[in-house]
Amino acid sequence: MLVEKEKMFNPEDVIEQFEALTMDAGRVQEETLRRILQDNSDTEYLRKFGLSGRTDPESFKACIPLVAHKDLEPYIQRIADGDGSPILTGKPITTISLSSGTTQGKPKFVPFNDELMDTTMQIFKTSFAFRNRDFPIGKGKALQFIYSSKQFKTKGGLAAGTATTNVYRNQLFSKTMKAMNTPCCSPDEVIFGPDFHQSLYCHLLCGLIFCKEVQVVSSTFAHSIIHAFRTFEQVWEELCADIREGVLSSRITVPSIRAAMSRLLKPDPELADTIYYKCKGLSNWYGLIPELFPNTRYIYGIMTGSMEPYLKKLRHYAGDLPLLSADYGSSEGWIAANVNPKLPPESVTFAVLPNIGYFEFIPLKDNVDGLELEPSPVGLTEVKVGEEYEIIVTSFAGLYRYRLGDVVKVKGFHNSTPELQFICRRNLLLSINIDKNTEKDLQLSVEAASKILADSKLEVLDFTSHVNTSTDPGNYVIFWEVSGEASDEVLKECCNCLDRSFLDAGYMSSRKVNSIGPLELRVVRRGTFHKILDHFVGLGAAVSQFKTPRCVGANNTAVLAILCNNVVKTYFSTAYI
Ligand code: AMP
Repeated sequence: MLVEKEKMFNPEDVIEQFEALTMDAGRVQEETLRRILQDNSDTEYLRKFGLSGRTDPESFKACIPLVAHKDLEPYIQRIADGDGSPILTGKPITTISLSSGTTQGKPKFVPFNDELMDTTMQIFKTSFAFRNRDFPIGKGKALQFIYSSKQFKTKGGLAAGTATTNVYRNQLFSKTMKAMNTPCCSPDEVIFGPDFHQSLYCHLLCGLIFCKEVQVVSSTFAHSIIHAFRTFEQVWEELCADIREGVLSSRITVPSIRAAMSRLLKPDPELADTIYYKCKGLSNWYGLIPELFPNTRYIYGIMTGSMEPYLKKLRHYAGDLPLLSADYGSSEGWIAANVNPKLPPESVTFAVLPNIGYFEFIPLKDNVDGLELEPSPVGLTEVKVGEEYEIIVTSFAGLYRYRLGDVVKVKGFHNSTPELQFICRRNLLLSINIDKNTEKDLQLSVEAASKILADSKLEVLDFTSHVNTSTDPGNYVIFWEVSGEASDEVLKECCNCLDRSFLDAGYMSSRKVNSIGPLELRVVRRGTFHKILDHFVGLGAAVSQFKTPRCVGANNTAVLAILCNNVVKTYFSTAYI
């Protein structure tokens, strides 16, 4: 049945379906809520709050509280421990997703089911259909830097892995990729390999073997693409040697990967020479992607939010190729698709699919500091252009009025569904007393300071922050990994600029009276952020879903230790003296 369905996938039908759904978004939302509540009416959770089988939005909002992950944790834990009774969903949950957990330092468990898989594919197909209108591709392949995380069984025997892993492992994923003319260059053994360094090397090798067929270079989050081509800069001669001899490098030790690669790798000195001379001819690797893969139409992946700081590097590798930003979602469920693929990543918006969940929005206008006790969310079609909201999700996978923790801004409407811009994670990152700075504020400050570095032809490769309250007064600490050696003078200036660029009134006034101490810039050794990535992968996170934590809490001792042990230079701001 499913095979038939995928064969028949026609982009124009998908667009038509999307237009119909969004034309009537309000009614579709009500219908979606009705279906979710009907399917799960007998669950312990909905019964507990006395919904008694009612399925209308008013009763739902009156009975069911807004919750955060920690409120649902006991329920999800029981499911993971093997309690098969209808706790959150009518149908038993058989798979658990681990959200990347880079913000809180430890992965969270969330339920995953077939409905979530279907809605994920609906999002993928919708954005593909629009993308294919503006950037059509023929038969070919995609060089996809995708990786599976470690999978394990929970105490109750449920399969657990990151959401992307659960998606990649599902047959529907590869069928949908084929239907979109973008099957992955790499065999499954590479995607699901146990060691991501080896998988990454082989993804690159597969891409080179199929270099003429590659039409799209992609990853879930853009960070993985940059990570891949940074690695390419280190290993390209070895890759050429493998292709020349037809013998896989001894760095690949996993037998299943070696076996799968030996079926693809044949001696090809001509290809090896072509790649070798192309690489030699590049200036500082500018335009590397189109040079290696001349038939690539675009680069694809999530480039918004915490990925924005990587755009400059991505553009460097991409040369003239368009960067197309991927959709908006989370391990808890997908939310919205990019249906305007021509927009540059900085201004991308996401149109909510009204049938994949029930969505509510907490207005942030009168509630900037997050102190309001009883937020009153509005419905999907009631949001206002120009306003910011925190998004609340009710899904087909057992989450009811769940605070995702993201802040979005309404930029406009597609028919009657809103087009959202991703702003940031809601939780405050940096706060010592009355100051409040978010991930976005940090990003803007780093952006401003890295302009000074650019004058010395250097760039910030990655960054994070920490609130130091071990001294009195406490201060903000920013960690930077820089692409080369900058002079003390330049870094000192960057440090002052970072301090000055936090424009929050609470911060500025605290700095002036020294109730917050001078901002500290700590420069770390090259490779430190890769060590952090390795650390999270070791905990079960997937490279595919990796987002550098932009603030490291005092109790995230392991990551803090990696950072602190690699500091090579420290500067204190003199901006407020
Ligand atoms: P995960 O924990 O890996 O499921 O990550 C989900 C989170 O990633 C979301 O709640 C967002 O904060 C972020 N995210 C997902 N899609 C996007 C996007 N298109 N733009 C910016 N951030 C995103």
